[in-house]
Amino acid sequence: MSDYKVLLFYKYVNLKNPELIVLEHLHWCLQNDIKGRVFFATEGVNGTVSGTVEKIGKYKKQLTAYPEFSDIWFKEDEAVEHTFKKMHVRLKNEIVHGDLTDVSLNSGGKKLTPEELLKFYQEKKDFIIVDARNWYESKIGKFQNAITPQMKNFREWKKVVDQSLSEFKDKTVITYCTGGIRCEKASAYMVESGFKDVYQLEGGIVNFIQKYPDTFWEGGMFVFDERKVVVPNSKEEMKHIGRCHFCGSPTSYYINCHNIDCDKIIVSCHECKVENGYCCSDECRQSKRKRKQFH
Ligand SMILES: [Zn+2]
Ligand SMILES: [Zn+2]
Repeated sequence: MSDYKVLLFYKYVNLKNPELIVLEHLHWCLQNDIKGRVFFATEGVNGTVSGTVEKIGKYKKQLTAYPEFSDIWFKEDEAVEHTFKKMHVRLKNEIVHGDLTDVSLNSGGKKLTPEELLKFYQEKKDFIIVDARNWYESKIGKFQNAITPQMKNFREWKKVVDQSLSEFKDKTVITYCTGGIRCEKASAYMVESGFKDVYQLEGGIVNFIQKYPDTFWEGGMFVFDERKVVVPNSKEEMKHIGRCHFCGSPTSYYINCHNIDCDKIIVSCHECKVENGYCCSDECRQSKRKRKQFH
């Protein structure tokens, strides 16, 4: 049963008064039982929200009533319940924090549709595909043969490009991320750095796996809500590429080490998580400052 929906959306557009929209938007969402997180900035909007099918319908009308967002593209997914506990609407400097304010969106890589990416793979075209997400996201899922930089966060993208991707300047390079937003600037930075043939996956992984599960996406997809991970493939051997930190069995699940001072992300199967007290090591298990165990 899927009585709920999850929306993922972003748009780069000049907003004159984002602070006003923040207030209006929060108020409306609280009244309509919409939960999630939405960031506004003078450069646009970035959000993920959940709600009942009916309320999500209303939400789309509410947001697209702003002329700036009239053509915004919602990526939709079904859910059995809210995928967020609360509603956060915030004013930000950048809609994705990447220290890329000096990069022009007009430089962005050419948009590559899921159909085109599928063809690139099927026809064995000569291309490099790069994950623009963080290390803990690519650890449990990635495109076949993708380069997965070990970034702690998106602010390290410039360093990654300058230090480890520069040898591919003359190659065809494709960047991808969850919903496409990080690639707008990630690919623009590459173009501005002299990469000659740069593409960005349109609509991100979300867009691809809905259309072509069990093809070239391997493993689970990390999401920034209560679901934590989406597993799009049905073929057993393609479901999980992550390995449990403790026993090595295939899994896409992870926890944050429950020692608050460690908080490290560890991929762990359910059994090992419980057995190890939700902690990464003996040292952490003995810590006094620990988070509560929920499930
Ligand atoms: Zn395990
Ligand atoms: Zn730890």
